[in-house]
Amino acid sequence: MARSTAVENARKALDLVWDRQLPVDPSVIANRLLITKEKLPVQMVESSEVGISGKARFNRAENVFICEYSANEVSHRQRFTQAHELGHVILGHVNDGREPKRDTSFAVRSHDPDEVDANAFAAELLMPADYVKTAVKREQDISKLARLFDVSTAAMRFRLQNLRIL
Ligand SMILES: [Zn+2]
Repeated sequence: MARSTAVENARKALDLVWDRQLPVDPSVIANRLLITKEKLPVQMVESSEVGISGKARFNRAENVFICEYSANEVSHRQRFTQAHELGHVILGHVNDGREPKRDTSFAVRSHDPDEVDANAFAAELLMPADYVKTAVKREQDISKLARLFDVSTAAMRFRLQNLRIL
């Protein structure tokens, strides 16, 4: 799947269920969405598994997609993990019959196409391009922008670079 499709899917999810208030709460988005043509729900839950940042899977017994995130990591990381795992679900990476996605340290450097796409999805979900471009017109301080979108300063800087604003 092309990265542009990952971004389009994030925009579609926001269009469907986001209340347009910043910061975006990926767990709220997940809980409001229905996935695939069968309209299956997504549950966002704290992970009890040691040593992972997050995990995405399909629970066939209950016909529900499960996104797990580690509550032991810093808040910004938890939000990014939630958005990233939701990306795996929406992009069809963990559809029925496919293996779960288990993320230990999905650095932005990962070259696995599914990881690249889930990261692109997460960036657009948490920092929608249109909203970033509008915000930058009024505020150029990266730490203040980071607070607005509730992301780390490093993630905000990376996003601005990717959007060719920095
Ligand atoms: Zn992943």
